[in-house]
Amino acid sequence: MSDFAELRERMVRRQIEARGIADPTILDAFREVPREAFVDEGHRQSAYDDQPLPIEAGQTISQPYMVAVMIEAVEISSGDVVLEVGSGSGYAAAVISRIARAVIGIERQHDLVVSARERLQCLGYDNVMIVKGDGTRGWPDEAPFDAILASATGSHVPTALIDQLAPGGRLVMPIGDPANVQDLIKVVKRGDGSLIEENLGRVRFVPLIGEEGWRED
Ligand code: SAH
Repeated sequence: MSDFAELRERMVRRQIEARGIADPTILDAFREVPREAFVDEGHRQSAYDDQPLPIEAGQTISQPYMVAVMIEAVEISSGDVVLEVGSGSGYAAAVISRIARAVIGIERQHDLVVSARERLQCLGYDNVMIVKGDGTRGWPDEAPFDAILASATGSHVPTALIDQLAPGGRLVMPIGDPANVQDLIKVVKRGDGSLIEENLGRVRFVPLIGEEGWRED
């Protein structure tokens, strides 16, 4: 086993499984995706550390456990079409693509769109598409989505994302001030269109900047 494969396996066991995520489909998805390919050269040795890491454009790749918590909460099955808002390095989208039928990752920063596309292409993950845009508007072209995740903290749940959620669909996103801790919110859209909202706990994410998010400074 290569050093990275060993570190990856240890990360899955100690950071994800040991903290209560038991779904083998989720654990295997993390086993498959080389996180070291989603960080720059200088951070490769830390790729399996239990923390977020810096990526281009002053953004971060989320802590693996946080990605796992969100994936578990949003209940992805193999036939699902999933939208990830704030795809950044492409790591979370890559993990989700090992579970879902198709993934659309939307990212507002051009450099991150380009690098994520390159990485995913290199890995041969062909059921994940990275698009450039303001994810607070969703991505109507591919809607409705069975599951929507936002990897950046919003001021509220954007109406466009609720509109683009399929009946029975789930949305998970952090809500709250980027300067403080935020709440991870889950919204389920029932068959009749009504919504159930649940607070999954305190988290920390970078700001969701856009039409239905925070303003850029
Ligand atoms: N899931 C990513 C985490 C990236 S951090 C990963 O695995 O690497 C969150 C990302 O959200 C940043 O790259 C930021 O540029 C992006 N972002 C913030 N507001 C956005 C918006 N309105 N639309 C799309 N992307 C946004």
